[in-house]
Amino acid sequence: DEKAVAVLGLGAMGTALAEAFLAAGRPTTVWNRTPAKAQALAARGAVAPPTLTDAVRASRLVVVCLLDHASVHEALDPVADELAGRVLVNLTNGTPSQARELASWAAGHGAELLDGGIMAVPPMIGTPAAFVLYSGPQGAFDAHRGALDALGESVYVGSDHGQAALRDLALLSGMYGMYMGVMQAFALTRGEVPATEFAPMLRRWLTGMGVLVDSTAAQLDSGDYVTGVVSNLAMQTAAYPNFLAVAQEQGVRPDFIAPLYPLMQRRVADGFGHEDVTGVIDLLRIDENQK
Ligand code: NDP
Repeated sequence: DEKAVAVLGLGAMGTALAEAFLAAGRPTTVWNRTPAKAQALAARGAVAPPTLTDAVRASRLVVVCLLDHASVHEALDPVADELAGRVLVNLTNGTPSQARELASWAAGHGAELLDGGIMAVPPMIGTPAAFVLYSGPQGAFDAHRGALDALGESVYVGSDHGQAALRDLALLSGMYGMYMGVMQAFALTRGEVPATEFAPMLRRWLTGMGVLVDSTAAQLDSGDYVTGVVSNLAMQTAAYPNFLAVAQEQGVRPDFIAPLYPLMQRRVADGFGHEDVTGVIDLLRIDENQK
């Protein structure tokens, strides 16, 4: 059946993926190392064969969503010979080099790889809020896009297999950096301001400051970190010790907020106090930082 899809891995995410394929009317075969997790999906119409070999044989499109890169090899290595002629879609979190490694491993067994990054949490899968990044052969993406669109918006980012993982990890790094700030803000106010009272203010501020993403991008691409500066680095660097001081006053660790300060100070000392904070990005390059 050309519409069929197999889903390997039924954790929180794999289960959501299988549910979305079923909801889209795709004949769906599922497999999980711990078989009990397939039961609820089987009751909803998925086929749950007893072995991984049977699951792989059920479909030309094989979606895998396991814990990490090592678990993908642990599961797939024993059935590698079954993959010939199939398209493997790896939605397991991993690095660009892991994606490229899996692509050449798959090619060695006659399979094509699309490596993906899921930009959603499980409840978002199958809704317009979800987007999934894919990289690998364009032909494989075009052929299976119709099926993959059941998961969310499918975003193709290039034939180099590492490109989806690079974007995925960069987006998640941005999220965790933001979340460190959110945690610091709650830690500072905790006990003095109810968190639910403070939350709308924090969300409003972070949402408003989202424009930084675009102004920073424009400055990076032009190499001009001065045009349009409204909050110059010297001013920001003068205020920054207050974030460390208030942490101490409130009895909160400064660890999340501290590392940026010496980089800002270095840029000011190097004569860039009139610029935006953008130049700190140049200092993050390891070759620059070791000078
Ligand atoms: P879970 O912890 O819920 O599930 C992990 C899955 O991996 C289970 O099916 C588990 O099988 C399987 N597994 C682990 N080790 C092995 C192994 N050695 N061999 C075979 N199967 C193995 O994780 P999620 O489903 O939440 O996440 C899956 C992937 O999706 C991860 O890479 C994650 O980073 C990514 N992701 C998750 C998001 C989320 O919010 N949940 C968001 C975006 C991406 P078993 O049941 O037998 O233990």
